Amino acid sequence: MYIPEEKISEILNTSDIVDIVSESVILKKSGRNFFGLCPFHSEKSPSFSVNADKQIFHCFGCGAGGNALSFIMKYHGISFPEAARMLARKYNVVLETESMDPARKKQVLVKESLLRLNKKVMSLYAGVLNETSKGKAARDYLENRGMTRDIIDEFYLGLAHDAWDDVVHFLKKEKVTRQVAVNSGLILPRKQGNGYYDRFRNRIMFPIFDINMQVAGFGGRVMDDAMPKYMNSPETPVYSKGRILYGLHAAKQYCRREGSVYIVEGYFDFLSLYQHGIKNTVASLGTALTKEHVRILKGYAGRMILVFDSDDAGINAAKRSIQIFMGEAVDTRILVLPDKHDPDSFVMKHGRDAFLELADQAKTIMQFLLGLAMDTHGLSVEGRIRILDEMKQHLALIKDSALRSLYVRELSETLNIDERAVLEKVRDAVIQKSTKQSSLMPDHPADEKILVSDPRERQILSIMLNYPNLIPEVVEKEVLSCFYSKRFQKIARKIIATESVNEGFVTSVMAKIDDNRDQELIASLAMDDFSGNDDMARTANVLMNRIIRIRKKTENILTTEIISAEKGCDANVTDLLRKKQLEIQQLHDSQQI
Ligand code: ZN
Repeated sequence: MYIPEEKISEILNTSDIVDIVSESVILKKSGRNFFGLCPFHSEKSPSFSVNADKQIFHCFGCGAGGNALSFIMKYHGISFPEAARMLARKYNVVLETESMDPARKKQVLVKESLLRLNKKVMSLYAGVLNETSKGKAARDYLENRGMTRDIIDEFYLGLAHDAWDDVVHFLKKEKVTRQVAVNSGLILPRKQGNGYYDRFRNRIMFPIFDINMQVAGFGGRVMDDAMPKYMNSPETPVYSKGRILYGLHAAKQYCRREGSVYIVEGYFDFLSLYQHGIKNTVASLGTALTKEHVRILKGYAGRMILVFDSDDAGINAAKRSIQIFMGEAVDTRILVLPDKHDPDSFVMKHGRDAFLELADQAKTIMQFLLGLAMDTHGLSVEGRIRILDEMKQHLALIKDSALRSLYVRELSETLNIDERAVLEKVRDAVIQKSTKQSSLMPDHPADEKILVSDPRERQILSIMLNYPNLIPEVVEKEVLSCFYSKRFQKIARKIIATESVNEGFVTSVMAKIDDNRDQELIASLAMDDFSGNDDMARTANVLMNRIIRIRKKTENILTTEIISAEKGCDANVTDLLRKKQLEIQQLHDSQQI
């Protein structure tokens, strides 16, 4: 523990899980819980639930679960102390870093100093653009591209001087340590080994914000035809290209409102659409879109519209991105702009309404792929067979079988090939794919088994979590010593050791548990609904008596048999029975995995 336990409870008590999860998942209230699409596995109907009373989340689909802190950790892929600090910052809980171990402390401090430094450099760049005579050319450039004052200010655009050591000097003046300066990616060591030089020179600068409005990195664009046209910060401890989308910090509320998001490539594409009131937009910045990107966006919008240029590069980029979106089962549309337009040039020339009209006709992934295949192969008999061969691979990627059969019908009609023949081809491709996958990725059936194998022991845990006032009876009955599952036994002991408070009991139990799988189990147990039961004490008693009776009975039978076998001097039978006794124990122990 690097952060004192009482600080963790303070964070958990002041934070609100519905509030926190809502930042990344669209939640709808249903009964006593909130439901939404799980950000941790791909699904079409919501099985991800959040319980405000208990301050926990649980996914009935993939089993993910925990409290506010575990959600932040899992969602952002960060460590426990980082998650605690993030929430502490959000809810103004003061944390001391003194109690952290030195390595962690250093990591956290490095990140914080990088974010602080980036913010200062952002102001430096903005100052150069807006307040110096050298910024005039850049201001004119932006004006010529149609950027308004408001947009320039809202996204803190700036200018890097046409100099080799502007930022180098600035960092010196600010007394930034060499390690932080180099880590920021803003300066690079000279090849001759004497000192450093600025990475970004004579470029329009775009600060890249993370979802918490912190400056994670920068992008820079030249104002003439020099190469490279665009240059971005390298990966740093605060800038991960696979997770950050340009503009999401500003667009997220609009994505949620519209239920859709436009995904474009460049800074100007984003800024132009945003400026024209199409604010549910993010830019991928030329990085290939990742699963993480899609999962993050899923938290804000159900439909994603990929906008591409009509040139070859655009089409190829579309083809590359498609696989990711199909695998994640999201409603994806492909919008290819006409006449070699990019989103920036299109909306500047034709305006908002023309763009939205076009977007309305955006193709589904299958329509898009089919169109491409038809352009390539033509509709001769041979061409159609080739198209089918190509399309079956794509169709095999669709996990939802109902959706797949719709596409199969569409394909069979377009190609004028019998639906059953198409279906057969697709099935072969699915089977090929799934046998390939299953040998690579084993599932975890052990997890599911444990939940069905010990229904009574599971129920006792669930009652303890939901009715802490019944815990003393569980202790008195000594039922835990009769548990076959060592894992349940261990968790029950932690529950007993947790001080019973009226609010936040479940999260206090979770705070005592390090194992992520155990946390998930607790979340799933705590989600049990006993609302129809008005005599919980009685139910608990019946369950406990049964557990005790069964355990005693099994052991009695075996012991009696062993004794009588020993009397009869049948060594084989004795061995067999002892083995059986051991097996029963092992069977249950093995389920602890
Ligand atoms: Zn899930």
